Amino acid sequence: MKNVYLDNAATTQIRKGVIERMQKALTDYYGNPSSTYSYGRTSKTAIESARKIIAKTLKAHPSEIIFTSGGTEADNMILKSAVRDLGVKTIITSRIEHHAVLHTAQDLAKEYNIALKFVDLDENGTPQLPHLEQLLHEDNTKKLVTLMHVNNEIGNLLPIGEVAEMCKANSTLFHSDTVQSIGHYALDVTKVPIDFMAASAHKFHGPKGVGFAFVRKNSGLKPLISGGGQERGLRAGTESVHNIVGLEEAFQLAYEHLDKERAYIEGLKKYFMARLTEVIPDVVFNGLSGSLDESTYTLVNVGLPISDDKTKMLLFNLDMKGIACSKGSACQSGSDAGSHVLNQLQKGEGSKRTSLRFSFSTYNTTEELDYTITVLKQLIGA
Ligand code: PMP
Repeated sequence: MKNVYLDNAATTQIRKGVIERMQKALTDYYGNPSSTYSYGRTSKTAIESARKIIAKTLKAHPSEIIFTSGGTEADNMILKSAVRDLGVKTIITSRIEHHAVLHTAQDLAKEYNIALKFVDLDENGTPQLPHLEQLLHEDNTKKLVTLMHVNNEIGNLLPIGEVAEMCKANSTLFHSDTVQSIGHYALDVTKVPIDFMAASAHKFHGPKGVGFAFVRKNSGLKPLISGGGQERGLRAGTESVHNIVGLEEAFQLAYEHLDKERAYIEGLKKYFMARLTEVIPDVVFNGLSGSLDESTYTLVNVGLPISDDKTKMLLFNLDMKGIACSKGSACQSGSDAGSHVLNQLQKGEGSKRTSLRFSFSTYNTTEELDYTITVLKQLIGA
């Protein structure tokens, strides 16, 4: 079997309709959106229409959607400006955030000499909300909490509504890295009192290099990079119109098919876990990725009964058989330092196992999963 693509938490495959919309933007009206001639006006209209559609789905105001080059930039823009311009003196986060948040927060702590505090995690990587409550009360400094909605390595799903309410009750700013959840979960910012979110199009079948930040009105944030005032005065530079149009199409399709696709992908995940457990005894699911209540339906982090040093070879051999997936430490490919997420979970024997992340999309089939499990069984000699 060829091209069994099970790395959708890293990047989803672009939808055909998205490519068609992008192609039109690249060929039919490739003008500068700041210009007043017709190509420029059409480009500008396309951007504003995308902004409106996204805002409507999230129940936000269009002015609260700022297009960026992706999730990393949106996270950076929010965290850096919150410290520089809003007087945040304490960032509260967790040790299993994506590096777009974790490294940014660590850099800020050093550069601005602010406090960086970590909420306790249980053995499955779930942030302990009573400890968060305690941290919120620890001193009187202005605080920002940043906790991700869906963890990109182990799939844990955080009740961000509850966290947002806690932050609001304590007059604390709340940012969530929603890169793994926007396009997969319905979010309503009139119900969740969240200040900031980050999203990325290539996580929901859109193009790479484009995303957006949700920035609550009158936030006081200032731009990270200087230049023209294109994106609502918050992000300078000519907008990548074809990418924004692609993002809009992908976003619309994602929410149009949300329930149907979710049910389908959830079925794939359940099937994969059940078959894997049957065929490879002693398999474990890291974090909460084996629980459909507390983890996302899109991915599963699998600990296999072979030692960790075999991971690279296993990935190579899976690739030779046409199967694409990630190391469990998804964002550290090329590094031998191991996963900062799995290391945090201190799984003892479990942490020394080979860990692979399989992440699913609407384009996967049960035949592909059967094939993957058969190949895995052969490769690990289970
Ligand atoms: N946050 C999370 C949770 C992610 O999974 C990713 C992508 N791996 C990012 C941020 C960064 O997004 P982008 O690739 O758009 O910069």
